[in-house]
Amino acid sequence: MRSDPTQFALTAPASLQAVLAQLAQNPGTHIPIAGGTELMVALAAGRLPRHSFLSISHLPELRFIRITPDAIHLGANTTFTDIRRNPTIAADLPLLTLAASWTGSIANQNRATLGGNLCNASPAADTPPALLVYDATVTLISSGAAPGEIVQRTLPYRDFYLAYKSTVLRPDELLHTITIPRAYSVHRHFLRKVGTRNAQAISKTALAALALVSESPATTSDSPSTTPCARHIQTIRLAAASLADRPIRLYATEAALQNASLAPAHLDATLRRARAAFATEAHPIDDIRSTARYRTAVAANLLEDFLRSLTT
Ligand SMILES: Cc1cc2nc3c(=O)[nH]c(=O)nc-3n(C[C@H](O)[C@H](O)[C@H](O)COP(=O)(O)OP(=O)(O)OC[C@H]3O[C@@H](n4cnc5c(N)ncnc54)[C@H](O)[C@@H]3O)c2cc1C
Repeated sequence: MRSDPTQFALTAPASLQAVLAQLAQNPGTHIPIAGGTELMVALAAGRLPRHSFLSISHLPELRFIRITPDAIHLGANTTFTDIRRNPTIAADLPLLTLAASWTGSIANQNRATLGGNLCNASPAADTPPALLVYDATVTLISSGAAPGEIVQRTLPYRDFYLAYKSTVLRPDELLHTITIPRAYSVHRHFLRKVGTRNAQAISKTALAALALVSESPATTSDSPSTTPCARHIQTIRLAAASLADRPIRLYATEAALQNASLAPAHLDATLRRARAAFATEAHPIDDIRSTARYRTAVAANLLEDFLRSLTT
């Protein structure tokens, strides 16, 4: 049933400290609202549990892109348009630029924020797989004991989700910064989203991948040292959307592929091992967008596409 907008309050405190103070005063009473592109849909559908919005969209403290030699720091209110237009992100973190470019429409990208995408905690969201392979960290903030004091905690983004639509964020906390190392210039990057159509579609499944390929002799039994300069995987990171109740890293598949040979004589064995490990950790569901069977099969094919792309 649709909600009645007149039953909702919207407050826009003047500063970040004031927002945090309100969240701390009455934990669980307010819903922080950034771009509102998730929340307005939920409001229209009558799915909101609370009736007080606390706007954070106007706060400059949450909208920034800071580049340092080692990392890129993104404020939670960074929009997808901000991301798409940043040349350093495009050069260093192409998977993030790509994910931002296919999230909703241009109008949506102008309002929708990276923070909202992560905090909404959808297993199908577009940016999480990229941030998972890039080993992002997230910084959460809340009010401290002294007036105006802000306390923060930083954790690996891979530990941010607890379950379906559930995160470690406390009711008095906000996501403040997403930090991504600038460490992937020599890696191979891969991101594919499979949806009903190219634009304006929520993914049926998506796979992000990052790998370092080495030409030196591999040490595994698949690639005996008699093979000179066999191409093999030195490091690999894989993450997926819509294969579980939350965005996930595929750790078992990564482990199975560590040092795996990409030499023509061993490629079939590598692919078989990858698919077997992948099957142990892909647990999608049937829903209105797709079936579990389709999601598993397509994501495994994406994985194989990526591995084959590493052979050249
Ligand atoms: C037409 C349409 C198409 C879309 N297409 C896509 C798509 O292709 N891919 C995709 O991934 N998503 C898509 N979305 C979903 C949505 O646009 C994104 O998830 C967007 O990133 C949400 O950001 P927002 O700022 O609008 O979040 P909001 O709606 O403002 O908030 C979403 C949630 O995050 C919380 N939140 C926001 N910021 C913070 C913060 N700093 N700290 C703590 N909690 C916070 C809010 O309380 C709320 O629970 C689409 C939505 C629409 C309406």
